[in-house]
Amino acid sequence: MAKGALAVSLVCIVSLIGGFFVVANPLEHSDHDDDSDSGGTTPVIKDEELSIHFLELGNKYTGDSVYINYGEIDILIDAGSRTDSSTTIINYINDHIKDNKLEYVIATHAHQDHIAGFYSTGSSVGVLDNFEIGIVIDYPRSDATSATRTNYERTRDLRCTEHFTALQCYNNEGNAKRIYELGPGVTMEILYQRYYVEKASTENNYSVCLMIVQNGKQYLFTGDLEKAGEDSLADFYQNQPERNGLGHCVLYKGGHHGSSTSSNVKLLEAITPEYVIICTCAGSPEYTTNPLNQFPTQEFVNRIAVYTEKVYVTTLMVNYSGNVFQSMNGNVIFLVKDGEITIICSGDDKVLKDTEWFQNNRTAPAAWA
Ligand SMILES: [Zn+2]
Repeated sequence: MAKGALAVSLVCIVSLIGGFFVVANPLEHSDHDDDSDSGGTTPVIKDEELSIHFLELGNKYTGDSVYINYGEIDILIDAGSRTDSSTTIINYINDHIKDNKLEYVIATHAHQDHIAGFYSTGSSVGVLDNFEIGIVIDYPRSDATSATRTNYERTRDLRCTEHFTALQCYNNEGNAKRIYELGPGVTMEILYQRYYVEKASTENNYSVCLMIVQNGKQYLFTGDLEKAGEDSLADFYQNQPERNGLGHCVLYKGGHHGSSTSSNVKLLEAITPEYVIICTCAGSPEYTTNPLNQFPTQEFVNRIAVYTEKVYVTTLMVNYSGNVFQSMNGNVIFLVKDGEITIICSGDDKVLKDTEWFQNNRTAPAAWA
């Protein structure tokens, strides 16, 4: 864990077997438990198990990075939050990857809190330079003029075996595919939303959206998609007879770090999320000094509480100017083991509503009271 962070190494499991309870330390530990970047101990995950890891990023900034492992298949969705996060992300992945190859890399949109860790700088090796890279799927459109975007795209073009935009995937254009088979019963489907084609008023709405489907269970990722993009996603699939709506999602990566601009009613009605995991630094003034609008926002909480209380958050801000932050749930692993869902946290195992931060900074909606 990076300088300034308070290391929390407790590994805890919350399991859902006809209810919701804590299992004390049932994990074996790997040989890699000297790696403090992953919280001190590393759970051993079997080859046949699909695991989805929401990562802390080693600094005080909010950003996304989600690592997915299924047998020999390794997928990384985004590499935020800053260039120096790459060291944290690489160390984490090294504890799980077997062949040093990321078969699929997704860059949802061209903001630094999603792509800055992909490329190398004078002081850090980027994720794309560290691993062998298979297929990169990224945003069909961008208005970004940043060096971050240029550096990412240059590295992508040098390092990947094949590059497709999400639109090419959706359209099954050339070698691009809408649905990738990841293994027995598991697929990754690149979803359609209107801002793959149309100009958006915010870069966030260019976000690549995708669904992992495991034996009928759906796990949704929408990057930083905001309301107009979410509405188009939900509307599009409502009118697709072969999908008949997006359908219930067992897991939803809380959109845009728990911002008030995302996780809007139409999308939530379409997916009725059961587990919501957010990569963010709770209570950080990085984007706003209005406490209610700091991630995860009160509006996000109000809307999500209708569906679930199983909300997890990676990091907690302690003192922004002092560069002090600590794990909230820490690195959060969503694991399906023998058909049952297990959440493994490198930090505390409390759901958001039971955290001290929530009780001091948010008002519990009726559903959570
Ligand atoms: Zn973001």
